[in-house]
Amino acid sequence: MTNVESNGAARPAVPVIALVGPPAAGKSTAMRAVFAARPGLVHFAVRVFFGRQAAAGTLLGLRAKEYAAQARWLPDEFVGEGLTAFLEAELPDAEGVVLEGFPRNADQARVLDRVLAGFGLELARFVYMDVPDEVATARVGQRRVCQRCETFVENGIPVPDAVCPRCGGPVVLRRDDAPEVFRERLRHHRESVRELLAHYATRDLVMRVDGTGTPEVVAHALCDAMLPGALVEAGDTAPRGE
Ligand SMILES: [Zn+2]
Repeated sequence: MTNVESNGAARPAVPVIALVGPPAAGKSTAMRAVFAARPGLVHFAVRVFFGRQAAAGTLLGLRAKEYAAQARWLPDEFVGEGLTAFLEAELPDAEGVVLEGFPRNADQARVLDRVLAGFGLELARFVYMDVPDEVATARVGQRRVCQRCETFVENGIPVPDAVCPRCGGPVVLRRDDAPEVFRERLRHHRESVRELLAHYATRDLVMRVDGTGTPEVVAHALCDAMLPGALVEAGDTAPRGE
């Protein structure tokens, strides 16, 4: 697939890859290895994107704050507007686009299809990183999140005086990770992802990654799924599994 520009010159379409999985599957941790291997990838994660917009005081950010103040999910169409703004800004220099945690359900998949079509693009791959419920539940009890930059810190770091390894900010147990809230998030994910997987399976876009191994093994599997050949081309900067 190519994008044909007005002067008739064609350049290869930028691949757009969605990474989805149950909460605490280890997506963010494994993604760090992918971005180390391919710094030209741009990353759209809903929470981070709208957090930055809010910090910058843009109209999108102000609207996202209003939804948060009302304790409402961001409407699908609004997330689509955010993605459109992101692509307008980032696409010209991007080697590829990674969507993390989006789309979450079949309605969002339809919004995504429409937004991408507006740029002459379509989804190249839907990577589903899965772990059994008991693994996700065990991991979430051990993780904290940075209040400042939203980096997840895994593996039972000392609390309360631990700080974020990236920015030095304070790290806390996220409200969403409290046991009873987390159980509900997991149940909701399992329910909504069924239709989503079916949506992409009909287009043969689904690639599954097992998230249960060590961080190194999982990162390696994710690199292979998202970027075949990336480890070789990037000179082995990504962690290796066995
Ligand atoms: Zn931080």
